[in-house]
Amino acid sequence: MDHFEYRGRELFCEDIPVRELAEKYGTPLFVYSSATLLHHLKQIQTAFASANPVICYSVKTNGNIHIAKLMADHGSGFDVTSGGELYRALKAGATGDKIVFAGVGKTDPEIKYALEQDILFFNVESEEELHNLGAVAKSVGKVARATLRVNPDLPPKTHAKTDTSVKGVKFGLDIDTVVEVARGVVGHPNLQVVGLHMHLGSPILSADPYRQGIEKGLKLIEAFRQMGHPIKYLNMGGGFGIHYRKQEALPAGAFAEVILPGVKAANCQLVLEPGRFVVGNAGILVSRVVFTKESGGKHYIIQDAAMNDLIRPTLYDSFHRIWPVQPAGNLPAPPTDYEVEIPDTFKQNVVGPVCESGDYLAKDRALPVMKRGDLLATFSAGAYGMAMSSNYNARCRAAEVLVTGGTARLIRRRETYEDLVAAEVDCKD
Ligand SMILES: *Cc1c(COP(=O)(O)O)cnc(C)c1O
Repeated sequence: MDHFEYRGRELFCEDIPVRELAEKYGTPLFVYSSATLLHHLKQIQTAFASANPVICYSVKTNGNIHIAKLMADHGSGFDVTSGGELYRALKAGATGDKIVFAGVGKTDPEIKYALEQDILFFNVESEEELHNLGAVAKSVGKVARATLRVNPDLPPKTHAKTDTSVKGVKFGLDIDTVVEVARGVVGHPNLQVVGLHMHLGSPILSADPYRQGIEKGLKLIEAFRQMGHPIKYLNMGGGFGIHYRKQEALPAGAFAEVILPGVKAANCQLVLEPGRFVVGNAGILVSRVVFTKESGGKHYIIQDAAMNDLIRPTLYDSFHRIWPVQPAGNLPAPPTDYEVEIPDTFKQNVVGPVCESGDYLAKDRALPVMKRGDLLATFSAGAYGMAMSSNYNARCRAAEVLVTGGTARLIRRRETYEDLVAAEVDCKD
C-alpha cells in the first residue's frame, strides 16, 4: 500500500501531481509521502503491539532529519551505526533511552559520545569490541549496556552484499564462541550484558529466517542467564522486505507471527530496527529525460538521475519499477507483471550521465516511447536511495520533498557547485 497513484494520466503523491513538484523543485528529485511512511510504521506498531516493542528506526536507511523527526514524533526510537547517525537522531529530537548503536568498528570517540547520551545499549559485534567497550566505559566512569550481536549462521536469504547472517561475514559474534565471550565479562564492573541481537540481512521476503534465528537465540539467552547476565532484550534487527517488482512483500503481521512467540518464550523486551519496510515504498525518484539514443541495437533513455542518486541497481542488481509520470497512449498505469509481454512498450535501458557503464537504473526494461523533457518515476526509492548517494562526477545531490496531503515541503535543498567544494580547505580564489 502506498500513496503514489495514477489519476487519469498523471502520477500523484498523495494529493499533489508529481509533475508540479518536478517543475517547482527541479530534477532529479526524491519525493516522499508521509502517509505511506506512517502507514508502514503503524503496521509494525500494530502487528507487534502485544509485546510493547522498542521500535528503533534504522537511520542509515534514510537519515534526513525531517524524516527522522516524523518517526520520533510517532513513537519511534533509532538504530544508529555511527557517531554521525547518532548526531542525526539527536538532532531529530530523540533521547538516548531510545537509541541503540550497531556496527563492527565503533571508535572510542563514538563510544564516548554514545555513553554521554546514555544510549539504551550497544550492539556489540566482536570480543575485542566488548572488552574495549568496558574499558572506555571505565575511563569515563560509566557502565555500558551491551547486547551481543550473534551471527546465527543461517542459509543465504538475500543478495550476498546484504546478507548479514551467513557464516563468515564480518557481522556479529560467531554462534559457536559467543557463549565463551559472554563468560569472559561476567561481573565486569563497567559492562552489563543485557540482551541478544540479530540482524539477519535485507530485504527478507519470508518469516522463516526469523523463526530459525529465534530458535538458536533462545538457547543462547538461557546460557547467558545461567552465567548471571541480566538478559532483558531480544533485538531482532530489521530486514523486512518491501514491494519492488510486484506485491512480493509480507505484511508485518507475518513476521510478528513467528517473532512474538519467540519473545514470549525468551521472556524479553522486544526491540526491532526496521528501515526499508518503513521508508522504502514511501519514496520515489523523479527524473527528466535528457536524450534518447540507440547503440548496438540497444535503446537508451538517458535521464538526469544517475548511479550517484540511486546506486542500488548497479550495487545489488536491484529491480525498481520505472514508469512515465504522465503516460501517453494506452498505458495509463505501470505494469503489475513484468514477466509477460507489455503492449506499446519495448525494451530500453534507463541510464544516467555518469561516466560508468554501471550507471543505470534499469536494463532491458519494458517502457513506452520517451522523449526529451518527459518525466520518469523510479519507485520504491525511499530506502537506501538518498542515503547512499554521492557527489561522484561532481554531481550535486538531489533535492528531497516531503508531501503531506496537499502540502509539499522541501526537506533538503538541491546542492550547489559551492557545496561541492565547501569542505576542501584553502580553495578560495
Ligand atoms: C541496516 C540495518 C537495519 C535495517 O535494515 P532494513 O532492512 O532496512 O530494515 C537494522 N539493523 C541493523 C543492525 C542494520 O545494519
